[in-house]
Amino acid sequence: MPFSSRRYFLKALGAVAAVSASQFPAFGGSTSEAAAVPPTDVFLNRAPLAKNSYYPLPLSSVRPKGWLLEQLHIQAHGLTGHLDEFWPDVGSESGWLGGNGESWERGPYFLDGLVPLAHLLQDQALLAKANKWVDWTLNNQAANGMIGPSKNDDWWPRMVMLKVLTQHQEATGDTRVIPVMQRYFAYQREELPGMPLRDWGKYRWQDEVASVVWLYNRTGDQDLLRLAELLHHQGYKWKLQFENFEYKKKVSAKELGLAEGRPIPEIAMQTHGVNNAMALKSSALWWLFSNDSSERAGVERQLAMLDMYHGMPTGMFSADEHFAGKNPSQGVELCAVVENMFSLEYAIAILGNATLGDRLEKIAFNALPGTLTDDMWAHQYDQQPNQIECTLEQRPWTTNGPESNLFGLEPNFGCCTANMHQGWPKFTASLWMASAQGGLAAVAYAPSELSTKVAGVPISIAEETTYPFEGEISLKVQPARPVRFPLFLRIPAWVQDPDVRVNGKALESVHAGEFAVVTREWRRGDQVELRFPTKPSTIRSYNNSVVVQRGPILYSLNVETEWKKLKNRGMTADWEARPTSAWNYGLQSSEGKVLFAEKVRPVSAGQSVFSLKGAPVSIEVQGRKIPQWKAENGVAGELPQSPVSSSEPLEKLVLVPYGAAKLRITVFPEIAESADTSQKS
Ligand SMILES: [Zn+2]
Repeated sequence: MPFSSRRYFLKALGAVAAVSASQFPAFGGSTSEAAAVPPTDVFLNRAPLAKNSYYPLPLSSVRPKGWLLEQLHIQAHGLTGHLDEFWPDVGSESGWLGGNGESWERGPYFLDGLVPLAHLLQDQALLAKANKWVDWTLNNQAANGMIGPSKNDDWWPRMVMLKVLTQHQEATGDTRVIPVMQRYFAYQREELPGMPLRDWGKYRWQDEVASVVWLYNRTGDQDLLRLAELLHHQGYKWKLQFENFEYKKKVSAKELGLAEGRPIPEIAMQTHGVNNAMALKSSALWWLFSNDSSERAGVERQLAMLDMYHGMPTGMFSADEHFAGKNPSQGVELCAVVENMFSLEYAIAILGNATLGDRLEKIAFNALPGTLTDDMWAHQYDQQPNQIECTLEQRPWTTNGPESNLFGLEPNFGCCTANMHQGWPKFTASLWMASAQGGLAAVAYAPSELSTKVAGVPISIAEETTYPFEGEISLKVQPARPVRFPLFLRIPAWVQDPDVRVNGKALESVHAGEFAVVTREWRRGDQVELRFPTKPSTIRSYNNSVVVQRGPILYSLNVETEWKKLKNRGMTADWEARPTSAWNYGLQSSEGKVLFAEKVRPVSAGQSVFSLKGAPVSIEVQGRKIPQWKAENGVAGELPQSPVSSSEPLEKLVLVPYGAAKLRITVFPEIAESADTSQKS
């Protein structure tokens, strides 16, 4: 239904519209005009829930600018904007549009990214596409309260659609959403005892509790707390998994015990990458209910265990499709990448830990672009930090098939094709949050403009920056009239000597890895300057290897690539990527240090900053080939334990952002000493 006719439609609905308009005065009245003036109200957690540190702002409070806007445009012109035109699983026959087609998770997954993208860009064509789906769900609720396709009674895909509805409501103030959710939750509360969570829903319960909290904060209906208790009771206890973590090695297919036609064994669910990425929010979320400090510590505990046994330099953990250890030739699924980002966005709001923002940026600026083609028309199922060849070959994945690291429409399995779209839009929406003390918080950085209200005063903050490529960020604060509030600014843990100035005056007590806070009466034209020096450095990784980073970005050796089209796939295609240059290099160090030469140029308009052409930063290092390090089964063989010796000539190597190098080496052996110091030009 087009926006312009929504008011008419609501009138026709009668009682539904009347109830919600009076009950929720924050959004009373305007619906069809809501798109132009997004709601600014933030709903704090109601008692007895514990308080968040920060609260998400309504969708559309943050507008992308600069390179980030470019990235969202690329996405809109790529798969996200066109998938429904040629991929039947989200086509007009979808069960989520009343058809006889796919009726499980793919429609809701697609919408979970399409809805925020359409609103952030205010793209009328995308809004029309998104609203068609939202309208079908809102207008076709069963008499008993069930939503979605009637031929499918699985709770899981509905959990995703609830996330879609909450985003839509925040962006539009659509008064149909809350009554539909109320009726659905009432129905589910009745049904759950007899039809408990199973399979995916049992392991992803927290994603529904997030929507239950959203509604509870708006209505105060105590029955919603009982529903949340029931979901938690029936759901898997993720916190316990990481308090006593048993999955310390790559799991084998035999251990998983998967068999066609049989239910998925519990171990396969517990070691599943996407389940774990979604679960990253579960302890923080349940702390709101339990007020138990061990629950509050659960997110950091989960991250520590995943880092220790399966950590990847991108901030992700390996899971292809299950935990796969720290070898950088193992993969991680795109669904896990975008779900991990969403979980971090959710957890940082509750907990307020600055380091969760560091990780969010690391994943957003590396793992996300690194697994998509520059034009966002093709994606991988599994990406590898050391990715030397993307071809049809059975790689050492736990269970995934030979297509898994191809760039294509639906390599290996189509879940990521449906689910990848939420990455950039939700990241954009999460750059700024409201603080519990009535102020604002910058939890991640990228060019953008915030429009919201503080203490009833309309305010905008223009964020000008080429971050993450440079560390200078300028915030221009523009309140409609002077207003006093605390401004929280995340200082990344990687920054040495952070410098924060307000109207030219340096702030004291600014610490890396924490939020700096400036409480003052803000006036029109106030200027905040953040300086985070971005010198390249190395971190240690698997087998004492080295990884080069500068700010939140990893720098990889780009392996020259021959792209070969395997198959046309409607409006897109499946591609192989074969290496045409050597990849088996180690980095030369001298007295324990790798020497760097940076090249920085302005961000060029019209190009993705995560492409070889558009990337504004490259780093020169010196390295040597390691002849004994060879390809095995289409992946880089076991990474030699560093330090390594090599008598090959010294060569200049140019490293580029991880996301730009589709074939790459990111995790390098370190060559400490070598007899041969000759240089090859
Ligand atoms: Zn997937």
